[in-house]
Amino acid sequence: MSTAFLSHPDCRRHDMGAGHPECPQRLDAIDDWLIANGLDIALSRHDAPLAELKDVELAHTHGYVTEIRDVLEAVAASGECKAIDPDTIANPYTWSAALRAAGAAVRATDLVLDRQAENAFCAVRPPGHHATRDQSMGFCFFNNIAIAARHALDVRGLQRVAVVDFDVHHGNGTEDILAGDERVLMVGIFQHPLYPYSGAVPKGENMVNVPIPAYTRGGEIREMIEAMWMPALERFRPQMIFISAGFDAHREDDLGQLGLVEADYEWITMRIKDIAARHAQGRIVSVLEGGYHLGALARSVGTHLRVLTGV
Ligand SMILES: [Zn+2]
Repeated sequence: MSTAFLSHPDCRRHDMGAGHPECPQRLDAIDDWLIANGLDIALSRHDAPLAELKDVELAHTHGYVTEIRDVLEAVAASGECKAIDPDTIANPYTWSAALRAAGAAVRATDLVLDRQAENAFCAVRPPGHHATRDQSMGFCFFNNIAIAARHALDVRGLQRVAVVDFDVHHGNGTEDILAGDERVLMVGIFQHPLYPYSGAVPKGENMVNVPIPAYTRGGEIREMIEAMWMPALERFRPQMIFISAGFDAHREDDLGQLGLVEADYEWITMRIKDIAARHAQGRIVSVLEGGYHLGALARSVGTHLRVLTGV
């Protein structure tokens, strides 16, 4: 079995304007790296389907889904862009891109649960982990990882899943949706204080939040992960692991001030893969979140995928 790689051209057409860091070129940089390094042949590629609204509503309120659909469909019809918040902008392709991103995460979950892939990575945008149950924010419209986790639980019948978030920003949306859901353990590291300035006080007992000061390097971050995440994950024995894979804690990324490098992403992915092998039959679905330095993003995703594929 191979690693599934899910994406869709619609995810490139969502564009928040010149100079916006969450840009279509992020996906091109990842693709270029995979081809240049020969890793693409180790992946089985799948087109991301459009998510069904009933799946989106596993994580978001019906009212929010209806409202954002109306807004984004109106943007698509008008051909004009519209700011949803100061840094989250919709263009005419945003509605289909958001549905493809959520649909990728759901399809990846099914591929892995049906043993059609050992694990999966979704190279999608818009990202998702800041989208709360009823609000778009921080470049995010639908919470792809929370939708996939709930799909595994509510539709596919798993009893325990873990969400791992190593983006430099706190996954406030995922926490908002999953806090208090005892079927989920969420572990996260994030720079604090930094946008969205939440996370220092966890919202539920199923949240293991590890806030980290600016300028912390990889060695210290690995120690905190080993001390805080690993015992919780071992105790929880997840049947599947979902990764909010943001690469903006990289030393070269200007949106945060943490010091991870490719070797750290390799180590983190190996530690997650160890837990998955012991408790979850190896089942991992990883979904792209942040990562804005194009070179560092491509190299880090490549390293992450090398571990997932085992090549
Ligand atoms: Zn981020």
